[in-house]
Amino acid sequence: MKTLNSQRTAVRRLHHWIAGKPVAGSADSLGPVTDPATGEVTAQVPLASAEEAAEVVAAAKAAFPGWRDTSLAKRTRILFRFRQLLDERADELAAIITSEHGKVLSDAVGEVARGQEVVEFACGAPHLLKGSATENASTAVDVESIRQPLGVVGIISPFNFPAMVPMWFFPVAIAAGNTVVVKPSEKVPTAALWLAELWQEAGLPDGVFNVLNGDKTAVDALLTNPDVKSISFVGSTPIARYVYETGTAHGKRVQALGGAKNHMVVLPDADLDLAADQAINAGFGSAGERCMAISVVVAVGEVADALVDKIATRARDLRTGDGRRGCDMGPLVTEAARERVSGYINAGAAAGATLVVDGRTGTFDAEGDGFFVGPTLFDHVTPDMSIYTDEIFGPVLAVVRVGTYDTAVELINANPYGNGTAIFTNDGGAARKFRSEVEVGMLGINVPVPVPMAYYSFGGWKNSLFGDTHAHGSEGFHFFTRGKVVTTRWLDPSHGGINLGFPRNT
Ligand code: NAD
Repeated sequence: MKTLNSQRTAVRRLHHWIAGKPVAGSADSLGPVTDPATGEVTAQVPLASAEEAAEVVAAAKAAFPGWRDTSLAKRTRILFRFRQLLDERADELAAIITSEHGKVLSDAVGEVARGQEVVEFACGAPHLLKGSATENASTAVDVESIRQPLGVVGIISPFNFPAMVPMWFFPVAIAAGNTVVVKPSEKVPTAALWLAELWQEAGLPDGVFNVLNGDKTAVDALLTNPDVKSISFVGSTPIARYVYETGTAHGKRVQALGGAKNHMVVLPDADLDLAADQAINAGFGSAGERCMAISVVVAVGEVADALVDKIATRARDLRTGDGRRGCDMGPLVTEAARERVSGYINAGAAAGATLVVDGRTGTFDAEGDGFFVGPTLFDHVTPDMSIYTDEIFGPVLAVVRVGTYDTAVELINANPYGNGTAIFTNDGGAARKFRSEVEVGMLGINVPVPVPMAYYSFGGWKNSLFGDTHAHGSEGFHFFTRGKVVTTRWLDPSHGGINLGFPRNT
């Protein structure tokens, strides 16, 4: 990481966003934000104390009664305005994402578009929040069910989707009448602050959307504050488990999405050029820093040699560099991430896997000391190697060779993660069998990164999700509301009398 003296640009001092205003936070605890393509420190972000976190929650709590009572018509009008502004200024947000995360601009534009889809979905809140009613459930008794907002909800997000992951949650939470505290990753804080200003421009009342910058201290403060009613967390599996256990122990509703190890099965009848293209897209897009990235290609039967050859040729052709220069692949997010990924490549080679394409060396199209690792391909990987067992979260693709379809499915089902998987085949029967048997939450058939549309719900199985409610779609509205059932009888003079028995339907 370069020192401040060698900066080409001034280092920005970031802030929290509380009740519609930037709030500096204490200067005693600041974290560096870097441009991963150049290695430069570009900003300092405040890392909140527990007291600062309480202040943000108090602002969100104060805004809740007014927002809960704001009509759905008014709420959705603000959502439509937010959607319009985001559409007009998507490029600005994409540039921010690239400058702090490192992903190439076209990828960042795609991220914004997928987040935008959740805003569009949430604009349908009046329909999605409709309850149900029954007339004459018992004689002259009517029953209705309604769903009401929770109050203050906490959203804690990872570095790899600075805009899209928070947007899996907050459009739905806000549409449903909650007030929100977003705690972005301290590595990529600017996108959330930019979104806060956009909400203000769209007319959202102050205090409905707040940003708390920080690290573990801020997360723990949200997890233990009784005024925070739910936590939506996305990050690595150990932290997701911790967040789920701590949040639920403090009486909160928690959905905690964790890490992944996604397998792509290639059957002998597959179109190998299509499979190789998609392995490249899904393995090296965003430098492998996606929870839905493919990190293992399971080559079934005789396809392995030809498939490895096709993937290797394509991997060698990729141009890695600064995401603003039209490259195919950008850097990793931090120096530590680059060291970790290089360590895994060393370990894979030492364990006896065949290193077909080595990303540790090469030329990168960038200035400065960016955190680059090029596309890396291993063949003959076995399930005991750390490059197979661990989530590497970098541009490292491992090919495991198996003899049969059954062995491929056994491999996937034995894996502790269950986020995404894909099968490449022209055999509808095999694909249908895979759909039924595989123990993974999101599955693609000839689609390598099967991220569900906003009107479906996103979430994995096993160690990829703690809690039972997935993000957005109908499950999102369910998570951010609680049900109430009302039983009504308008008495007429003929009713009355005392009866201590349990109410029965008559
Ligand atoms: P991370 O777990 O390090 O951080 C996630 C969030 O937790 C951040 O806001 C961070 O500040 C906070 N945090 C970090 N350490 C903490 C601690 N000890 N206690 C409390 N909070 C803590 O994850 P990351 O490196 O930012 O993101 C990458 C991970 O996220 C990968 O494992 C990836 O698979 C996962 N991810 C999963 C999904 C999904 O949908 N399942 C989506 C995106 C990313």
